[in-house]
Amino acid sequence: MSQKKRKIALITGISGQDGSYLADFLLKKNYIVIGTKRRSKQKNNWRLKRLSIEKKIIYEFMDLNKIHEIEKVFNKYKFSEVYNLAAQSSVGTSFKSPLNTAITTSLGTLRILETIKSTNPRIKFYQASSSEMFGDTIGIRQDEKTDLNPKSPYGISKVMSHHLTINYRNSYNIFAVSGILFNHESPLRGIEFVTRKIISSLVKILNNDLQFFELGNIYSNRDWGYAKEYVEAMWLMLQQKKPKDFVIATGKNYTIKEFINLSTVHLGFRTKWIGKGYNEKLINKDNGKVIIKINKNLFRPSEINYSKGVAKKAFDELKWKPKTSLKKLVKIMIDDEIKYYRD
Ligand code: NAP
Repeated sequence: MSQKKRKIALITGISGQDGSYLADFLLKKNYIVIGTKRRSKQKNNWRLKRLSIEKKIIYEFMDLNKIHEIEKVFNKYKFSEVYNLAAQSSVGTSFKSPLNTAITTSLGTLRILETIKSTNPRIKFYQASSSEMFGDTIGIRQDEKTDLNPKSPYGISKVMSHHLTINYRNSYNIFAVSGILFNHESPLRGIEFVTRKIISSLVKILNNDLQFFELGNIYSNRDWGYAKEYVEAMWLMLQQKKPKDFVIATGKNYTIKEFINLSTVHLGFRTKWIGKGYNEKLINKDNGKVIIKINKNLFRPSEINYSKGVAKKAFDELKWKPKTSLKKLVKIMIDDEIKYYRD
């Protein structure tokens, strides 16, 4: 393909887990990838470096909260596709910083959609929606038709972005789609998220760099997939004839406690759970020491206990399917955690 014909994609939030995997995926498809970074933030490119693509990306300053920066970037390039992955993406943090979450995660999307409408409505737009929008459906699996009943400032902010995406599609005929992704993890997951916290802490304990760590509710469950596979679904959504929203999920769910058990077994710990409620603990059977304690301050003010998606529409129309079991995903995360432990 000649240089001239290469598609140009914008990824907001390229320094994050999904942004990095998506950049890698699009570069392999010969896209020119423009990634946004914030003037206010320290350089945070460890994920792009880990994938050896840091130097293959063109970076532009663009904070979702600064409309003049957004307009400047959209006036500079003729984008074919825009992937809006930037957000205050942590549910836990959203309870502590609800205003910042709403401003960035909801209004940031509106600023981008407005800019697409005014600069080039032919751009295809992907919005990173989330299963957190469903809230707790108490035993009922979630698909594109499930009511939205979010339980956190994060989920509420994502609902606004989701509806804005649908609204701009219907009102202005923009190819705007919303990918409702269930939790997806990888070695590139941020340390503030529970799966990576568990794995990173266990590896520290194994290296005698940590004695124990604390968690909140270990009985909530999640539908966990592999992030590297989920970014392909984002791209597939923008290659369809018609703009539609899709749930992306594995259709299987596990409790956090089950995730811990898979991790300890893979790392070779011999463990047992003792106690109940706030007194529950994980003990290392080989030395009798406590590895995990429950801390009631780490429970969220309101929690989603049941999360399980139905991605049948994606299976049928996108021909997308998850390939990695949770057991395999835990192995992938642990192997990288050990490999890069001293970095
Ligand atoms: P992540 O690792 O936390 O990355 C978030 C990105 O957003 C970072 O690159 C961050 O850049 C950027 N960002 C934050 N505030 C910004 C602002 N005001 N302006 C510009 N950029 C800003 O998140 P992720 O796991 O890759 O998730 C990607 C997207 O999918 C997020 O929108 C998330 O909410 C959504 N999502 C994730 C999951 C999941 O399980 N991972 C599930 C459903 C939906 P800095 O480096 O500058 O901080």
